[in-house]
Amino acid sequence: MSKKNQNKTYSFFSCIEKNFDKAARFLSIEKGILEQIKACNAVYRMHFPVKIGKKIKVIEAYRVQHSHHKLPCKGGIRYSTKVNQDEIMTLAALMTYKCAIVDVPFGGAKGGIKMDPQTLSVENIEKITRRYTSELIKKNFIGPGIDVPAPDYGTGEREMSWIFDTFLSLRPVEVDALACVTGKPISQGGVRGRKEATGLGVFYGIRELCRLKEDMFSVGLDVGLVGKRVIIQGLGNVGYHAATFFHEAGAIIIALAEREGAIYNKKGLNVSDVIFHLKNTGSILNFPGAKNIDNTEKALELECDILIPAALENVIHKNNANCIQAKIIGEAANGPITPEADEILEKRGVIVVPDIYLNAGGVTVSYFEWLKNLSHVRYGRMEKRFSENMNAELLQVIETICRKKILKEEKKMILRGAREIDLVRSGLEDTMISGFHKIRELKKSTGIKNMRTAAFVFAIKKIIDSYEKLGIFP
Ligand code: GLU
Repeated sequence: MSKKNQNKTYSFFSCIEKNFDKAARFLSIEKGILEQIKACNAVYRMHFPVKIGKKIKVIEAYRVQHSHHKLPCKGGIRYSTKVNQDEIMTLAALMTYKCAIVDVPFGGAKGGIKMDPQTLSVENIEKITRRYTSELIKKNFIGPGIDVPAPDYGTGEREMSWIFDTFLSLRPVEVDALACVTGKPISQGGVRGRKEATGLGVFYGIRELCRLKEDMFSVGLDVGLVGKRVIIQGLGNVGYHAATFFHEAGAIIIALAEREGAIYNKKGLNVSDVIFHLKNTGSILNFPGAKNIDNTEKALELECDILIPAALENVIHKNNANCIQAKIIGEAANGPITPEADEILEKRGVIVVPDIYLNAGGVTVSYFEWLKNLSHVRYGRMEKRFSENMNAELLQVIETICRKKILKEEKKMILRGAREIDLVRSGLEDTMISGFHKIRELKKSTGIKNMRTAAFVFAIKKIIDSYEKLGIFP
């Protein structure tokens, strides 16, 4: 490979356009309509000053609203030194397709602030977050019915609560202010189960694939997750929770990769012990019983059944796609595989479960949080006691008929009414399972070769549907 070729960079947005165009070939839709779906409707690029220590720093930030076909727009906000307009535009577009696939009524959006939160104090991160929010408010780029941010790479509950607080202080009469942002702490209107939602969604999606005999047979694997060798790249919120759920389900986490390197143990790594080690030493490296892999990228190439890239984009590219030994790749991150790598993997028969479906668990539960905020009532509040009473009556009848007493522990389990976490998880599980089968059925009925193209076709059809309902395109 010549040096010139190796250094060639593609715009991230053009990668998504390629995937979109590939899917559009399976549909007979007017070019202009396709162009409209692809384009970003609004790009807000801002610069604002923040005093850091004794110096004024000019901060570069973005909010992109990719599609207004449904409102509000929805998508996370990331904090990273790599933030740029192309990246945020692409991630906003992915949100549009993601929402369409899992049937949540939002247009896609994304935000980003170019900074490294690890080198800044909490006070300064707060200052930047609050200023960013007020810039969004000034331009009407945030609001329960306009655009609703959420956590993403480098942000979490803490940042969401600052965003909410800033919004509320500038819009004090807004009765639905809580719904201006999702991913908030429970104490501030968050919903139970949001934090682990993306990782759990990844788990549900891959578990569903592994349940199917035909699909597993095609890659020479047995049905089920038990004993499957899994590699996870990225131990952030998504990777950590996905790893935990796979581990609990009986899969073997043989390698975990982070920025500083990876660790490998073919007998399996205990995820919570690794996290404990990471917290104590500041790194996953030198974990007892595991082998260090200094070049973290090499972890992707280890022999395994399931590879879960859960960090950043473009980590599997044309130069390493042929070295990937996984039979299944689950895209927990957004855009971890370039289009060239995708083609190589498709030819090699690797099953790629695409980001626009697989990591949609976060926005799905964000939708539940948004609904909770708009309804001003916690899930389960109205029906929990009612179903417990009904179950108790039913149980009593059964005991009388059978002339047998049910054990106290069993009784407790049967009587229990649904709590918020139960409802959120069941909603997420149902969304991920039905989303998977919709894409798979479309793939089978059209003869499309890979899940990504089928997912894009599904999303485009869904968006066209809502355009038609609105009467925008006669
Ligand atoms: N940042 C997440 C994503 O990329 C969540 C977005 C949301 O909840 O709105 O899907």
